[in-house]
Amino acid sequence: MPGSLKTEAIVLRSFRFGEADRVLHLYTPQRGRVSAIAKGVRRAKSRFGGRLEPFFRLQLVLYEGRSELLTVTSAETLAGHPRLREDGGALDTAARACDAVGRLFDDGDPHAGVYHLLANELALLDAEPARAGRANALAFRLKLLLAAGFSPQLAACATCGAREHLAGFSGAAGGVVCTACEAGAFTLDEAAHGFLVEALGRPLAETPAASPRALAQAERAILETLEHHANVRLRSVSTLA
Ligand SMILES: [Zn+2]
Repeated sequence: MPGSLKTEAIVLRSFRFGEADRVLHLYTPQRGRVSAIAKGVRRAKSRFGGRLEPFFRLQLVLYEGRSELLTVTSAETLAGHPRLREDGGALDTAARACDAVGRLFDDGDPHAGVYHLLANELALLDAEPARAGRANALAFRLKLLLAAGFSPQLAACATCGAREHLAGFSGAAGGVVCTACEAGAFTLDEAAHGFLVEALGRPLAETPAASPRALAQAERAILETLEHHANVRLRSVSTLA
């Protein structure tokens, strides 16, 4: 049934379309990822101005017809994140966060927790651009796994339940594994295990620091979890500062 959808949304991606239009990939709290077209947005006098760009958090009215593509009928800025846009590291980290959300979830797979997590990440990168970097990007991905229901088991061996001698990580087993169960696992040092536990347990703004070695192992654990559960491969964070 055609009608209007009033919703908050974060712009994940924005593409030129035709002569003057843009197609947007949006993430919304109740509908998850949706795609919408904004007509005439690239004309100088567009009523939408420059606000239909990635990282904007908006209050939108979308017209929903028979097409899968909704049509933007009005847009108000809730947060434009201007400081984030002036910092290369924050911009890169924000782009990866939006890319991860867009890849991990299909249209029509809503997770309100994912919306709030992404809104928090963008607000943090705008308020404190120096927070950008590998530790923040990995903490965001871990929380994304949790919100999607794919959180790795970190407290005990994912195979036998042992709570000691946890020395490896196995995406197939679903988390950390003990020395007796580590066939097929890779080595996860205590520092990397500690980072995963702390990053998952603390707010994004309190993500702990960790050595490059620990972050590399933490990233591998996240990548293997994603590949195993969601068949998704994300861009490495290794090029972030
Ligand atoms: Zn075990």
